[in-house]
Amino acid sequence: MMKIFANGLLFDGVSDELRDGMNVVVEGEVIREVSDGPVKLDGAEVIDLNGRFLMPGLLDLHFHAYSASFDMQQLDRMPKPLLVSYAIKHLEDAAQRGFTTVRDPGGGDVGLALAIEHGLVQGPRFLYGGKALSQTGGHGDMRPGVEEEPCNCAYSGAICQVVDGADQVRRVAREELRKGADHIKVFISGGVASPTDPIWMDQFTMEELRAAVEEAESRRKYVVAHCHTDSGARRCVEAGIRSIDHATQISLETARLIAEAGCYTVPTLAVIHEILVSGADAGMPPESIAKVDGLREQMLESVQNCRQAGVKIGLGTDIFGTEFHDMQASEFRYRGEVDQPIDVLRSATSINAEIAQRADTLGRIAPGYQADLVVLNSNPLEDLSLFERYREEMPVIVKGGDFLKRTL
Ligand SMILES: [Zn+2]
Repeated sequence: MMKIFANGLLFDGVSDELRDGMNVVVEGEVIREVSDGPVKLDGAEVIDLNGRFLMPGLLDLHFHAYSASFDMQQLDRMPKPLLVSYAIKHLEDAAQRGFTTVRDPGGGDVGLALAIEHGLVQGPRFLYGGKALSQTGGHGDMRPGVEEEPCNCAYSGAICQVVDGADQVRRVAREELRKGADHIKVFISGGVASPTDPIWMDQFTMEELRAAVEEAESRRKYVVAHCHTDSGARRCVEAGIRSIDHATQISLETARLIAEAGCYTVPTLAVIHEILVSGADAGMPPESIAKVDGLREQMLESVQNCRQAGVKIGLGTDIFGTEFHDMQASEFRYRGEVDQPIDVLRSATSINAEIAQRADTLGRIAPGYQADLVVLNSNPLEDLSLFERYREEMPVIVKGGDFLKRTL
């Protein structure tokens, strides 16, 4: 069955120029034609957009499906069916915000991906990395410092697992890749949610990081790093890590190295705001909340440095805590504080698709691309907070040619 999305004001995911009166023809799951002339096809279903804004489905490259709480201890002890039930809610809600693809760099697994593929969950395309890799005492080690480990064995929680030494990194990376991981995630600097590591700490040796990159690349996949620090970003460039996530304290000098190496950054402003405003309510202990001081201003400055240096900047959100997931849509407005609206939209579509190695299939409205589409009642370039009013302002969401939402 063919569908024609008729008379839209088109942002194609790449071009600066919006084009009005555009018609997009979808056949099955693929876009067949994009035309400024009238299209007539016998038997095709016509969805008249009446001049509404039409753009590619959104991508969020830093989304944790298993993020029911910011209290990692509670999360790790949650019965699996409950955790999965929360994940389903998070995924289906994200799809209703217009996110037709999410990348889960911590926890997301083949089971959730198949549940979506089988149509059991009305979620976005799901690019998962399995459990993220952390060194002992690193950002992915959620055990409090006062806790004695009775068996002196390794930690493996809902989101991440502990590995030490290049051989162990290699083995666990291979294990995740065997289960179909889209990428391998490593923690290479300290972080906010973990109890014992300062933000400034360098984590994993270069040898360990190179092992992860080698294993990912042998499958033509790539590595995503949790990285707040400037020194961490330099180590990412040196190790060949493609996706530098959070990218909070990037100097102009380091940004130039990132651009030169063809690496990418994925800022996550929504989670910083979440912790600042609601960290305690989201289940985060005071020692973690204290760590976020100043990170908001630093992240905004990093975006500006990366923009100036010509780094291709993606978009992520990293929300934890079921009741806070609606903040996912606020990322656009926060980015708009330092970025041009058109750049924010490009980050969430074609640039994110490129980072995720999907530049040929996702993030654009062009013939041959997957029919992932979002319709907005007005122009988000004039008001990025429109995405937060998705319930009223986003009447149509299409993933692979199928309606996830249709009120037109
Ligand atoms: Zn994260």
